[in-house]
This record gives sequence, C-alpha cells and structure tokens, in this order.
Amino acid sequence: MKTIGVLTSGGDSPGMNAAIRAVVRNAIAKGCRVIGVKRGYDGLIHGQLEEMNLSSVADIIHRGGTILRTARSEEFRTEEGRKKALNVVKVFGIGGMVVIGGDGSFRGGQELSKLGVPTIGVPGTIDNDLAYTDYTIGFDTAVNTVVEAISRIRDTSTSHGRANIIEVMGRHCGDIALHAGLAGGAESIIIPEVGLDIDQVCRKLIKGKNRGKLHSIILLAEGVGGAIELGATIEEKTGIETRATILGHTQRGGSPTAFDRVLASKMGAKAVDLLLEGKQSLVVGVKGNEIISVDIEKALSIEKQLDKETYQLADILSM
Ligand code: ADP
Repeated sequence: MKTIGVLTSGGDSPGMNAAIRAVVRNAIAKGCRVIGVKRGYDGLIHGQLEEMNLSSVADIIHRGGTILRTARSEEFRTEEGRKKALNVVKVFGIGGMVVIGGDGSFRGGQELSKLGVPTIGVPGTIDNDLAYTDYTIGFDTAVNTVVEAISRIRDTSTSHGRANIIEVMGRHCGDIALHAGLAGGAESIIIPEVGLDIDQVCRKLIKGKNRGKLHSIILLAEGVGGAIELGATIEEKTGIETRATILGHTQRGGSPTAFDRVLASKMGAKAVDLLLEGKQSLVVGVKGNEIISVDIEKALSIEKQLDKETYQLADILSM
C-alpha cells in the first residue's frame, strides 16, 4: 500500500492531533504517502484533501482539537454520497483509510470498507462509551478537566455552605462522571447506568450537613437529565441552597494529558501497521496494557457495561 488517508470525524476530543501525528509519521517511516482529509466524511465527499508530510504534524502533539477539523455528514449516510466519496478516494489513489472518531464515525468507516476501501478506526471521543476498549482518546483529559473544575467549585461551595451540581458530558455513558467523581471526592455521582434516586441524594446531603460538612458536590452525567432542574428539586426538598454548573464544551478542549498522548500515539501507529499488514474493517483499542484490534461490526455490537466495582467504591468513599 502506497497511500494512506486519514480523517477525524464526529465530536472532537483532545488527543486527536497526537493520533494524526502518529498516523502520518509511522506511515512515512514505512514508505507510504499520507493524504489528510479535512472535515471528516463531508470533506471526503467534497474533495478537501491534501498531502501531509513530516512537518504538517510538527508542533501539534500538545494541542487540543484536530488540525484536520471535523464535521458531521448526512450526505455520507446515503449511497449517493458514499459513491462520491469513493470517487475521490480513487482519484487520490488512497489504498487505505484511518478514521479517528466515535461509534458513528466507525459505522461510516465500515461502509467505506464495504466499498473496497480498507479502513481502520481509532477511538477518539471523550465519552469512553465504546465497550470493546478500556479507554478512548480524550477521556482522560476530559476527566482531568472535570476534576479541576470540581476543586474550584468546592472552594466556593465551602465558603457559602452550598450544594453544587456539576453536569458533565458522556451522552448515555456515565464514565466521565464516575471517574471524575471518584477522583474529585464528589458526595454523589448520578449516572444513566444507575439512574437517579432523588431521595437518596437528598438524604446524603442532609446527613452531611448535620455532620458539619460545608460543601457538597454532586456529579451529574448529562444522560440522566439537566443540572438546573435537579438543583431546584434538591433545594426544594432539602432547604439547602444549591447551584448548578454545566461544564459543557470545556470538557472537549484543552491540551491532552500525557496518558491521552501516549494512547493516541500507540493507536494511530497501530492503525497504519494494520493497514500495511493488509487488514481492514478493524478498530484499534486498549485492554490492560495491550493495544488490540477488533472487527468493527463486533466492536459496535458489544454493549458497554457499568464498572460496578468503581461505582460502589465511589459510593462507599463518599459517605
Ligand atoms: P461520532 O463519530 O462522534 O459518534 P456521529 O455519530 O455524528 O459522531 O458520526 C459522525 C459521522 O459518521 C456522521 O455525520 C456520518 O457522516 C457518519 N456516519 C455515522 N453513522 C453512519 C452510518 N450508519 N453510515 C454511514 N455513515 C455514518
């Protein structure tokens, strides 16, 4: 294989740049050309491609976002749109594609593979919602961003003796809330996998207050509901003044942590190696300390399970 294409698609995540850098440099080291596709599948359909070299990816390992930019493409969901994309792939002589993104982007990658373009997926999403891998690129950075926010909010929570609800991202997955809640010593962690028991949250708050606790941090995953509404309910039920903070897109930006940079470097390089071995329709992941690859279809069919031990531990430690 002489020419490899790379694109980032769907929601961005810190560490995507480190993954792009690894794809480009590992491919060039192994004698390939690399074509960068701008703005995901939309850019592929509309021919927004350019050749990348060693210096195209200089000075990006520490930067959040994605230098290739990202997009969502309704057109690529249609057969006609994918045909246009295939024509562009042929015109540029691309023999294999690395797609960095979440589950939606992987489905798109699977479609590309079906059209005869060998495609390997690299998991770039802060949500950590892909069951086949322990971690996705960007999750660790997002968790650290939330932990920093918890520290700041805890200061003012203590000063005023208030309860504070912090709403975090994750779509239907509670991993950001769970890990940041454990690391940040949150009093309650509310995640979609378990659901909301409002009376239990209120009991904990009142018990804490009676013990002389001045602050209370409640981490709420967005998949459960809104922080503002929950804050109003808690204040009404407990009489404790409650504030809500929605961290929103602050979680999607920022310089990636060392963990995410290492993970992205290993995964990006692995994707290229797989293409050079003649593999296709795979996604790269990590299990324990090992970088693995799994068939896309199989990877997407595995249902994400709650890490019950970590959830129970967080609950015990937040008493
Ligand atoms: P993420 O990759 O972050 O989960 P999306 O779910 O928005 O983001 O998917 C990104 C893009 O992948 C979509 O805009 C679309 O172009 C493409 N895509 C998603 N699902 C499919 C599918 N079933 N067939 C073809 N393309 C798809």
